[in-house]
Amino acid sequence: MALAKRPHGPNILITGTPGTGKSTLAAELAQKTNLKYVNIGEIAKDGQLFEGWDEQYQCPILDEDRVIDELEEVMSAGGNIVDYHGCEFFPERWFDIVFVLRTDNSVLYERLENRGYSGKKLEDNIQCEIFQTILDEARDSYKVDIVHELPSNNPEDLEDNLEKISAWIQQYVTNQGGIV
Ligand code: ADP
Ligand code: MN
Repeated sequence: MALAKRPHGPNILITGTPGTGKSTLAAELAQKTNLKYVNIGEIAKDGQLFEGWDEQYQCPILDEDRVIDELEEVMSAGGNIVDYHGCEFFPERWFDIVFVLRTDNSVLYERLENRGYSGKKLEDNIQCEIFQTILDEARDSYKVDIVHELPSNNPEDLEDNLEKISAWIQQYVTNQGGIV
């Protein structure tokens, strides 16, 4: 048989505006499957993979090249669920499928307020969702047929998404003849 493209299984990107539920979905999915949860924000923090401070948004600026170097090996082997609120700087070859979570404005507003966001930061994130910025970014960065929008408004959506993605993973693994 041909060598598996990803010995440890598919690489999945979960992206979307902050507050849409990426970490919740990605962590539950990792528990439910045997894929590894890769939270880019946490990896950057742990390794201090930053290159300065964004005055406008009052947050550190990700050192994208170092993040990519750090992850190259694990991504090549496959079997990762990557969680990040952006998607254009990752190598296109890393991902087999991309999910963009979408949340209704009123629901998202409340989630971000509960997280302590206010003023410009809150408004900017709501605008990001209204203008489907991340969805467009994903469609510009990956083949459109691997980019899927998923509603993420309530617990039923979460369950549906978990089921759909798990089924997709199983199919992928079966098609490539198992996980090494
Ligand atoms: P992100 O990682 O995209 O910023 P989180 O996973 O941290 O988002 O979720 C933001 C908040 O919304 C959390 O309080 C989480 O419990 C809640 N949440 C996430 N997904 C759902 C969902 N499908 N239904 C209801 N609440 C959700
Ligand atoms: Mn998160």
